[in-house]
Amino acid sequence: MSIKLYGESILREKAKPVAEFGAELEIIVEDMKTKMVDVNGVGLAANQVGLDIALFIAKLDEEVYVFTNPELVPLSTESHISEEGCLSVPGVWVDIERYLKVRLRAQDIKGNHVELELEGFAARVVQHEVDHLNGVLIIDRISPEERRKIVSQLEKIQHQAL
Ligand code: ZN
Repeated sequence: MSIKLYGESILREKAKPVAEFGAELEIIVEDMKTKMVDVNGVGLAANQVGLDIALFIAKLDEEVYVFTNPELVPLSTESHISEEGCLSVPGVWVDIERYLKVRLRAQDIKGNHVELELEGFAARVVQHEVDHLNGVLIIDRISPEERRKIVSQLEKIQHQAL
């Protein structure tokens, strides 16, 4: 399992819903957890490791959760700006505005429906990961001026990726 980098097309695709739950999916998730720990991440979407499925893992309150087929609903219009990085855009740190509180509806690794209300950092992590599953990266959420500042970094990453 290797991390896909900015420039690789799978990061730009909308992930397909997970329809089958079972041993195969559990193996994938175990591999993803190992990978996330290795690279010291707090979240990892399946398309970041080359898998076209709507699944992500996230470390929330020291525990790693698995979410499939996620849907997000903002719980207020209140937002917060904070610096974010991304394993697929290494070395790039940018200020991103996110909703402060969200409701996450998803299915767990067994296919059970779950619903969580998240706030602050946890809300930020799941918004970042759901973006991934929609083909959206942090660099899409910054201003053209901010983007100009990191153009050469992005070109280097893209060069590494292709
Ligand atoms: Zn990311």
